[in-house]
Parts: sequence; C-alpha cells; structure tokens
Amino acid sequence: MSPIRLLSTDFDGTLIGHPSDGRCSPAFAAALRRHHAGGGLWAVNTGRGLDHLIEGIEIFSPPVLPDFALVLERGIYRRTDGGWEAHGEWNASCRQRHSDLYREAGELFGEIEQMAAESDNTITILYEDELPSGFVTSDEEVMERAARRVARAAEKLPEFSFQRNFIYLRFCHRDVHKGSTLGALCRQENIPRDEVFAVGDHYNDLSMLDGTHAGMTACPANAIEAVKETVRKSNGYVAEKPWADGVAEALEFYGSRQRQPDGIRV
Ligand SMILES: [Mg+2]
Repeated sequence: MSPIRLLSTDFDGTLIGHPSDGRCSPAFAAALRRHHAGGGLWAVNTGRGLDHLIEGIEIFSPPVLPDFALVLERGIYRRTDGGWEAHGEWNASCRQRHSDLYREAGELFGEIEQMAAESDNTITILYEDELPSGFVTSDEEVMERAARRVARAAEKLPEFSFQRNFIYLRFCHRDVHKGSTLGALCRQENIPRDEVFAVGDHYNDLSMLDGTHAGMTACPANAIEAVKETVRKSNGYVAEKPWADGVAEALEFYGSRQRQPDGIRV
C-alpha cells in the first residue's frame, strides 16, 4: 500500500455537517496533524468559491491549513505566505472551455430560464458575468425534477453538463469537475493516483470517488446513497461515523491497512 501523499476532502457535508458549529472535530484534527507530520499534503475540493471557502476554513480552525484550495469544482489555488494564488495552467484552460461552450449554449440557457420563469419562484437562476452559471431551488425535490429536465434538454449539447449539490446546481463542461481538477493538481505536483485519498458526500463528489483520480476513496456515514455506492464500487471505505469523524475513521482505516505487512485489508 502506498502512503497517503494527498488528501482531497470536500468541505460542506463532509468536514462540517448539519449539527456542527463549523469547527474542526478533535478526531479529524488529530488525523490531520498525523498526516501533516508525515509530510502529507491537503487539498480542500469544494463547490464553494475561494472567498467563501476561506471564511469557512477560518471558522473550521484546523490545526494545519490546507495546501491547496480546489474551488467551484474547477479552480486550483495554492496557499502561499501572502495568501492564495492561482496554480498552473488548468484554470485558464477551464475558462476557455467554458466560454467556448457557453457561446453555443444560448438556446439551452433560454430553455432553462423559461423553466425557472414557470417555476413559481422555486427555481432561481444564478448569473456570473451576465451568463447563467447555474441555479438554486427551494428544496431537493424541486432540484431532482429540474436536474432531470436540464439533463434531457442538454442532450443536444453533449459537452454541456452540471454539478449538483443539495439545492445548488452549477453548469460546466462535461470534462470539468472535482475529479478532473484533482487529476490536474496531481499532474502538476507529480503525485500518483495510488497515493491520493478522496472523500465526499454528495453528487458533485462522484467524479473524485470513482477510482479514476484517487486510489483511496471514502465517504462519511451521512453521504447520499449514490456516493456510498460509488465508493463501494471503487473498493473504498464507507465510514460508520458522520462528517469529519467519518473522515478520521476512513484515514485510520487506510493507515492501519498500510501498517499490515502484507497489505491485506482488515
Ligand atoms: Mg459536500
């Protein structure tokens, strides 16, 4: 078994959860300290934007700060002494792919705006730079129906896709998601897939939990069923504990597996 060189952790619903005050759990803090002491790196891989993530991390108060922030399911930032800086070529290539795609998506955006207009205010379109970037729904049931409609409408534009997380949905290029962003970071940092641990709880985490970009996968007990299924299929670890305590449990599992002389799963 390879040691874990990089942790790729989702934030909301994975490190912090509903009853939490947003602060780091003692079990995860201890696991993080051990990982850091062994020279391991940590990336938070989130749907949040950078500023929103920085706010969350401040409240979370982990014993060591993340080395990388992977934000909006697409942007790679590296922590420096002076703050956070865009890292590598990936961000620019994503921007280019999105602007090319969005130029072709006018008709599709029109249909989605129409759907929102007829939704009795249960679907609100979100805009960035005057283009639709996604939408938020009044509840998860509305999201379920809306996501199905968008998927059907997008069949005519095969490169168009979206990331979904509870009541939020963000449009994206088919090949731009948490998984490919993690893969890009690992190429830049020369970290092999087998030494990457990824953990998440919701639909937008599936792409980093299917085994393509991380050799060790996990989810906390509160993860949705689709995530648990994906983690099981990639021979990953479904924790018994929720949120950050479940992440600590998964790290303990992979740590103890590495300590087995023959690498047998126990
Ligand atoms: Mg989440």
